[in-house]
Amino acid sequence: MNLHEKLGILADAAKYDVSCSSSGGTRKNKNGVGDSHACGICHTWADDGRCVSLLKILLSNECIYDCVYCINRSSNDVPRASFTAEEVIELTMNFYRRNYIEGLFLSSAVLKNPSHTMELMLEIVKKLRTEHGFFGYIHIKAIPGADERLINEAGMYVDRMSVNIELPSDKGLEVLAPQKPKRALLKPMHQINSKIIENKENRRLFKKGDSFVPAGQSTQLIVGATPDKDLSILKLSEALYDNFNLKRVYYSAFIPTVTDPRLPALIKPPLLREHRLYQADWLLRFYGFDADELLSKANPSFNPELDPKADWALRNLHLFPVEVNTAEYEMLLRVPGIGVKSAQRIITARRVGRLNFDNLKKIGVILKRAGHFLTCVGKTYDSYSSNEAIVKESLISAKLQPKSKKSVPGQLSLFSFVNETETHENLSELFLIDSPSNNGQWLSYYNQPQDGRLLLSDIHL
Ligand code: SF4
Repeated sequence: MNLHEKLGILADAAKYDVSCSSSGGTRKNKNGVGDSHACGICHTWADDGRCVSLLKILLSNECIYDCVYCINRSSNDVPRASFTAEEVIELTMNFYRRNYIEGLFLSSAVLKNPSHTMELMLEIVKKLRTEHGFFGYIHIKAIPGADERLINEAGMYVDRMSVNIELPSDKGLEVLAPQKPKRALLKPMHQINSKIIENKENRRLFKKGDSFVPAGQSTQLIVGATPDKDLSILKLSEALYDNFNLKRVYYSAFIPTVTDPRLPALIKPPLLREHRLYQADWLLRFYGFDADELLSKANPSFNPELDPKADWALRNLHLFPVEVNTAEYEMLLRVPGIGVKSAQRIITARRVGRLNFDNLKKIGVILKRAGHFLTCVGKTYDSYSSNEAIVKESLISAKLQPKSKKSVPGQLSLFSFVNETETHENLSELFLIDSPSNNGQWLSYYNQPQDGRLLLSDIHL
């Protein structure tokens, strides 16, 4: 098998991993320059806002494990291939020199055993950094079960590491991935987190030394392959953020690539569930919500009609309306239609005077949503109602209003200005935007290539 054939197999096999914030494209080269369909090229966004193209490949898809949900499982009949360390290095350097990529996202099936796989990955990243002078972004998977020493050493050469938990419960792992018990997955995450903390402390004290996994660690959870409810998935994410300081938890709607009686008979991937989880994840990280506030044992699934914040507000109408001129910042964040950026602007603006609804509109508050939950100097908004059914109807219809020409969503670029209003109002229908984060600078969006999958991307505005 030549290198190009291997690349075709191992780049294709890597596409199910969304934990590198990738976007995809299927545009072919028609006698021009460039080809967005080039095998394994995906994009991610660096902390400073740069869009970084990554070579996204598996080192191998010859897996010794037999996870039921996975296309690469040992019992599945698919073409198999493995790169050598030299081949991955050659591809990375050649693609880099041709300006196709700026970084590498390297994952792998378990080839022979976890330590052997990790050793190969270590060899690749070590040689790239020390022998080839490659200083581009590198994200690799830590292989659960691999020797700790190998993971620790690899962490000194890469920017980000991730361990994919995939299935949100012990039971799910027992049934669908019996060779990967949860404790075996959590162990390397714990190890990476401890090492990051230790490394930061040493660098702070001694003001020297290389960083260990400076871009932090992430993980991916599959949604819909097991009967786990949204509540258990969200609570797991909350625990991962709290205990392992994860940068991101990525959610991937289960795509049935294999048939097995142990898997659910899905007609299409549960994309709306995936989207609701991203919205709720945002609320955990930037809006001060707890998982238990958004869902409960009695109500363990997200409302398909309303986003989690609007759903929470509707269930807590007794807390509203709040007076915008005196409400705490934390409470403003809980008002549907007010994002982090708007809440910060409100706090700043009300230092110099009382705010009215016109001021709020200019600040970026979406009054079609927020109008039911606010007062300005004691006055309610024109369309205000305290009737739950009316508020619900209004929140739903606010989402469904036709978009103006100006607001038709398109592929975002670093050069398009997207304000908070557009983020919520115009792009959410097709691209299902998350709200901007705490500094109002980040948003996540979905890109929809022609295969119908929604792929998550981050963008820094
Ligand atoms: S270990 Fe990874 S690659 Fe191998 S079967 Fe399981 S999920 Fe697939």
